[in-house]
Amino acid sequence: MTTTHSTFATLGLAEPIARALSAENYTTPTPIQAQAIPLVMEGRDLLGIAQTGTGKTAAFALPILHRLAANRAAPGQRGARALVLAPTRELAIQIAESFRAYGRHLGLRQAIVFGGVGHRPQIDAMARGVDILVATPGRLLDLMNQGYVRLERVSHLVLDEADRMLDMGFIRDVRKIVATLPKARQSLLFSATMPTDVARLAADLLNAPARVEVTPASTPIERIDQRVYHVEASRKRDLLAGLLADRAMARVIVFTRTKHGADRVTRQLEQSGIDAAAIHGNKSQNQRQRTLAGFHSGQLRVLVATDIASRGIDVDDVTHVVNFDLPHEPESYVHRIGRTARAGATGVAISLCDPSERGSLRAIERLTRRKLTVIGEELPMPANDQAADERDQAQRPFKHRGDGRRPGGDTPKGPRNRGRFRFDRGRRAA
Ligand code: AMP
Repeated sequence: MTTTHSTFATLGLAEPIARALSAENYTTPTPIQAQAIPLVMEGRDLLGIAQTGTGKTAAFALPILHRLAANRAAPGQRGARALVLAPTRELAIQIAESFRAYGRHLGLRQAIVFGGVGHRPQIDAMARGVDILVATPGRLLDLMNQGYVRLERVSHLVLDEADRMLDMGFIRDVRKIVATLPKARQSLLFSATMPTDVARLAADLLNAPARVEVTPASTPIERIDQRVYHVEASRKRDLLAGLLADRAMARVIVFTRTKHGADRVTRQLEQSGIDAAAIHGNKSQNQRQRTLAGFHSGQLRVLVATDIASRGIDVDDVTHVVNFDLPHEPESYVHRIGRTARAGATGVAISLCDPSERGSLRAIERLTRRKLTVIGEELPMPANDQAADERDQAQRPFKHRGDGRRPGGDTPKGPRNRGRFRFDRGRRAA
C-alpha cells in the first residue's frame, strides 16, 4: 500500500483544487485517495474496490478535475467531457456536490441528470455542453435517445457503485451508454464488492486497469456492533430515554432526519433529565461551536444531530450512535455510524426502526451487506411487508452474500409474532 502521500500537498493537484480542499478542511488523503489519485492523474484506468465512507468520491473527483483543468477542451453542444454514472439520484447529487466543492475555483461547467423530475431544466443545462456530467443511467439514456445529450467527446468515465447499479437492473442501460463513448478514454469503476457480474463489466469497460482496494476488514464499519430495535414511532422516545439509563453510553450522537425532529428529541431528553443539545442548520455558528465544544470535552453526553450538521463533527471516542430515525438514504447510515469506532476503537450503533422505516432498514442491510442484530421482541408486521423474512434472517449470524441479493422468495403475508416490544436489558448491557 502506498504510504508516500500522507498529505494532499504531495499529490501535485492543481493549486485551485488544493485551495478548495483546504476550505473543506481536508488535510490527509484517505487510503483510497492516496492510492487512486496518482494513478488517475497519470491517466490510468482504475478498478476501485471501496465502500461509501472511504472517501472514494474525492478519489475520482479530484484527479478528474485536475485533468479537465489541465486540458481545457470544448465539450461540444450537448456534450460532456467527463461522465459519472451513479445508481441513485441521491448519490448523483452527492457526487455533483463534491465536484462543485472541489472544483469551485476552476470555472468548469457541470450538470446533473436523473429521473423523477422534469426534463426541461436538464435539457437546458446540457444545451451548451458541460465539462462534468453526473447522471443516473435511465434518464441519461432517455435524453440521449431524444438527442439532448451527446457523449462522443467524453474523455473520462466513472461508474460509481457498480454493484448497486447491477443490483438495480441498470446493467443494460449502462452498456448502451458506454457503447456510445469514444474508445480512447479513461475509465474508472468503483464497487463495494466484486461479484462476477461486476468483474465482467470491469473487464469489458476498463483498459489494463490498476486495481486499488481498501479492504472492508480495515474499515470501521466492520468493528461496529450494529443493532436494531423494532419499535412503534410513538415508543421511540421512551426507548431512547431507557437506553440512555445505561452509563456505558458515555458519549452518544443521536441522529434525526429533520431539524424539527432534532429539537423535539432534545427537548424530550431534557424532560427525562438527560443532558442533551442539538446541532443543525438553524443553529447559529456560535451555538454550534459551543455545543460541539461541550461534546468534545465530555461535558455534554448526548448530541442530537441531523445528517448535514454532523459533517463537521470530529470526535474520536463516540461510544454509541443512535439512529432515532432511519435515514432515507442508506449511505447516510454508513456516514452516521462511522462517527463511532473511530481511531481503532469499537463502537455501537443502535437503530430505532418503526414499521414505516422497514424499507430503509432493508436498503441499509443491502448496502452494507450485513444484517443488523435485532434486539428485544419484535412488533407485528404490516401486511405485504417482507420484513419478517428479513428479520428471521437477521437472527442468524451475518453471512456475506456476494451477489448482494436477499435470500428467500415470497414471504407469508399478514401479521405474525404479535409480541409487543419489550426492552432487553441483558442484551443492551452486553
Ligand atoms: P465518500 O466515501 O466519498 O462518500 O466520502 C465520505 C465522507 O468523507 C464525505 O463526507 C467526504 O466529504 C469526507 N471526506 C472524503 N475525503 C476526505 C478527506 N481526505 N478528509 C476528510 N474528509 C474527507
